[in-house]
Amino acid sequence: PERSMALAEQAKRVAAEFEFGPDAVNKAVKEFIREMDEGLQKEGTELSQIPTYVTAVPNGTEKGLYMAVDLGGTNFRVCSVQLHGNTSFSLTQSKVAIPRELMVAKTSKELFSFLAKQIENFLKAHHEDHYAGTLRRRETGGSLEQEEIFNLGFTFSFPVQQIGINKGMLMRWTKGFDIQDAVGKDVCALLQAEIDELHLPVKVAALVNDTVGTLMARSYTSPGKSGTLLGGIFGTGTNGAYVEKLNKVTKLTKSKDAGDYDKSTGEMIVNTEWGSFDNSLRTLPNTPYDIELDEKSVNPGIQMFEKRVSGMFLGELLRLALVKLIKDPAIPLFKDENSSSNDVHSTTQIHKGSPIWEQWGIDTSFLSVCAGDSSPGFRMLRQTLDKDYDISAVSAEDAEAVREIAGAIGRRAARLAAVAIAGIVINTGRLSSSSTGTATTESKTGINPPRGDVEVSEDDVIDVGVDGSLVEFYPNFEEYIREALKEVPEIGQHGEKRIRIGIAKDGSGVGAALIALVAGKVA
Ligand code: ADP
Repeated sequence: PERSMALAEQAKRVAAEFEFGPDAVNKAVKEFIREMDEGLQKEGTELSQIPTYVTAVPNGTEKGLYMAVDLGGTNFRVCSVQLHGNTSFSLTQSKVAIPRELMVAKTSKELFSFLAKQIENFLKAHHEDHYAGTLRRRETGGSLEQEEIFNLGFTFSFPVQQIGINKGMLMRWTKGFDIQDAVGKDVCALLQAEIDELHLPVKVAALVNDTVGTLMARSYTSPGKSGTLLGGIFGTGTNGAYVEKLNKVTKLTKSKDAGDYDKSTGEMIVNTEWGSFDNSLRTLPNTPYDIELDEKSVNPGIQMFEKRVSGMFLGELLRLALVKLIKDPAIPLFKDENSSSNDVHSTTQIHKGSPIWEQWGIDTSFLSVCAGDSSPGFRMLRQTLDKDYDISAVSAEDAEAVREIAGAIGRRAARLAAVAIAGIVINTGRLSSSSTGTATTESKTGINPPRGDVEVSEDDVIDVGVDGSLVEFYPNFEEYIREALKEVPEIGQHGEKRIRIGIAKDGSGVGAALIALVAGKVA
């Protein structure tokens, strides 16, 4: 009992290091807003605020058949999307693994001709009639009618310098790709060249960032009529895109190098690249575990927000905290001589080769297991430690300590996510455009009149689309976000109610198709 009390206290102390309270949230929101504005004005800022050349979000009435492809890492996805014009769609999809040798090919042609070949295979398998007809006409020299051409949205999740809706230069490869001659080239042109070589009736109409796809997909399917404000990804990484007033994007509107874009809507979707929010740590929390994770990462000092929020890193933060407790001389974790986990007396054992000793050894899905297990004695949690992490016969007390710390890391991530959402909701002025006008007074005074259970009218909804395993599967991630949103005075109880957060599935399919549609209209 003595050990278990001391251990519980120890766990509480570590959990407390991950606290990110209301004051900290508010300071960070202010900094987020400052960096948003700075990024809209000039290059080389912490929030990159990249103009996407997409100038409108869909309202659900869009119709037509479009194609979308997604090159993001291990797989290449090809799909066609039929938009029914009533917020619904049907999607046909195929997926192939990208051969490793193509990721590091000598020439970009090897990779892009492979991609074009997959598009051909897809058309043959799923759009045979259309495919045959257009090819025949092309061979006989007849030009293609506009309606015979598939407009395609190309989701390309590598850093690109976008200079038009279907034009963007690859800045550098990431995620294990390395094909030198592609760097600095327009990736849409590279793909189009290979498509043309196969005479496919396909036009690369749009270059799409996955966050913009998420925003577009959510705006099409969401029930609200005012359109979605923000699309956010909380998966391996984290990033968001939102609808900004065009006249605030001065680094684009005042640039002589900017490509053509539709100015009539007065808006443009901006890709924030918020993973690098506050890289200089003015307001982000910084525990010894955050410091160690960053120092041992491949890019120290960079993506500091992402390193505290996204799936790639949360498991590692937990591992670093647990290793510290395992090595504690006074009350070492996982050294319970009288483990009560089995009926028979047994001692907890960290088996040789346990991933707990390896960098990145704990997957963020384990945090979801911890948060989701409130069973007496934490059976799921202990089973997972045994099965996936080679730590057997963990006592209930030790399991509880793990759960406490894991929960603190997950909760902090959600509260940080709220900082980004709050910053964008406040800075875009959406809170003051209310049909009742109450939010305006609220945002000025910071006082929230008691509103009881007042229903938010559909006109007042501020819609946010999200995607990614973390937000989808981590228990109560949205509730934690909401807790923090309420603590921001400019938002408050009423503002928080107006914010609707919904999962946007298939962003890279439907979203890319929608951007291809928008692009087709402009062209
Ligand atoms: P991606 O962002 O690569 O498109 P995902 O949205 O599936 O793909 O995110 C993958 C990340 O989510 C990984 O870092 C993984 O550790 C984490 N993850 C996977 N399953 C879960 C889960 N159940 N709970 C929390 N995180 C998860």
